[in-house]
Amino acid sequence: MRCLILDDSKAITGLLEAIIMEELGAEQALVANNVADALVLLEKNPLSIDVVFCDLNLPDVDGVAFLRMLSEREYQGYIVIVSSVSHRVLKSVEHLARNHHLKLLGTIIKPISPQSVIQLLQSAGSHSGAKPQARAKEKLTVPELIDALEEGYFECYYQPQVCAMTRNVVGFEALARLQHPKRNLVFPDDFISLMEQHNLILRLTKDQIVSVFKQWNIWHQQGHYYRIAINISALLLNDLELPEFILTQIKKYDVKPKLLTLEITESCLNEDRTRALEVLSRLSMYGINLSIDDFGTGYSSIERLQSLPFNEVKIDRSFVQNAASSESERPVLDSMIGMANRLGLRVVLEGVETLAHWQMVCHSGCDSFQGYFIAKPMDVDKLEEWLADWNKMTD
Ligand SMILES: [Mg+2]
Repeated sequence: MRCLILDDSKAITGLLEAIIMEELGAEQALVANNVADALVLLEKNPLSIDVVFCDLNLPDVDGVAFLRMLSEREYQGYIVIVSSVSHRVLKSVEHLARNHHLKLLGTIIKPISPQSVIQLLQSAGSHSGAKPQARAKEKLTVPELIDALEEGYFECYYQPQVCAMTRNVVGFEALARLQHPKRNLVFPDDFISLMEQHNLILRLTKDQIVSVFKQWNIWHQQGHYYRIAINISALLLNDLELPEFILTQIKKYDVKPKLLTLEITESCLNEDRTRALEVLSRLSMYGINLSIDDFGTGYSSIERLQSLPFNEVKIDRSFVQNAASSESERPVLDSMIGMANRLGLRVVLEGVETLAHWQMVCHSGCDSFQGYFIAKPMDVDKLEEWLADWNKMTD
């Protein structure tokens, strides 16, 4: 792991450097005391910086402007904001970073405790499933992706969801991984949007559906009735071919529609989309569950929620993390869960990553939990082992 530390205080850069190099065993920590120097270092090492630590109050150009510059330079690594500004300012800067499409790993409040830095970097894996050092260094190309589809390099990983009351496994979210022979395992962050831009997403989604349904059928024959959740790109909601395909495969593999959930990100529900509504209505009519993914990050109103055929919300991981790190954020999470309950929606909570998260939410009114504290996404072989261990524990 290589890091860049931007802070005008030498005491802070020295402390962070020590933590990163000694406690976390980073390969290199570059240090800049102002934005101009940081940009020079970035340009010298365009692809090799995994994490940028960024102060906000800086002389000349501040950290807020630096975030924009990182976005303009298409910086692909993670960002950690290190600051002592107020909670509200931090929230708005976090929002800004997301609008810039930057990968914000989190915030460290000054004075810095080594533990907060270590925890944050260790949680890096849970955001995309990748630790910073395991990220693909070079961007994937379109021919590579086409080749990967042809050669069957995409795999289905499964992340367990457990019942909030009984802790029993209720099902899994299927997640695509690219096991390219010439690369480390590649995560969706690095290929989904490219596949969407080049009309490859339908093909990938169809392959994933078939592979998940085959697996469901195997589980079914073993006597298990797991729920399965599949992510559907918002772009595909314009495609009338998709519902037909799903319904055909459901028949072919004898999948119970009520055990199938399609997850659709909230941001696609912004505009009025008649065609998407037709697709969603039809899927829902056949008994398939529809879930709003990353719930809380978009702008859907309660009125809108009620007019769409969704029967589940998947509360975005950021709400659990915020609630765990700040008392003042707890009511936000609680009221989201409460609202979903009152609207009669199933509630799945993502991002349950620590024992503290689990304890905080275990009586909060959710239906099920998903996150690293339970298990990370796994291939089928690892999943079988995990299931055996988990079932032993909950019996
Ligand atoms: Mg999802």
